[in-house]
Amino acid sequence: MKVAVYPGSFDPVTNGHIDILEKTIKIFDKIIVAVIHNVYKQPLFTPEERVELIKESTQHLKNIEVGCFSGLLVDYIKEKKACAIIRGLRTVTDFEYEMQMAMMNKELFPEVDTVFVMSNSKYIFVSSSAVKEAVLLGGDVSTLVPEAVRRGLERKLG
Ligand code: ADP
Repeated sequence: MKVAVYPGSFDPVTNGHIDILEKTIKIFDKIIVAVIHNVYKQPLFTPEERVELIKESTQHLKNIEVGCFSGLLVDYIKEKKACAIIRGLRTVTDFEYEMQMAMMNKELFPEVDTVFVMSNSKYIFVSSSAVKEAVLLGGDVSTLVPEAVRRGLERKLG
């Protein structure tokens, strides 16, 4: 069984993230969306809330598991017996950082490869932080995030 891990902050999950999942689930048997619990970042949603929002937003997809991890990504990959890491690419500025991360993970665990998927042009400008900022300033983000996320953002920032 080909298992891939899609790690990220997902604070919160956007339609850009969902688009990447919809594409990659056609390639892998199972995808584990792994919410990074980073103690140094001040997230809007708790890891548990982020996991819940991803679960609600991926109900239309089969073979998606959602989890949470802190620590080294490659340790989580080994624990889950995954063969690949999925990352999305929006712009060339994403690429530089992503390439560095992919090479570091390859160095730490040579058996794993990172699979990059290009963002749908509709979502190239969409990031979790841009969405939060828009909501904070009173913007309507209903075309950019799943409905459960829109409600969650309204509750926290509206
Ligand atoms: P991180 O803090 O790890 O970058 P994010 O939640 O911001 O976590 O992003 C997780 C992954 O999803 C990254 O690979 C990022 O490039 C990708 N991603 C984020 N937004 C989009 C989008 N709109 N389209 C495609 N990929 C995206």
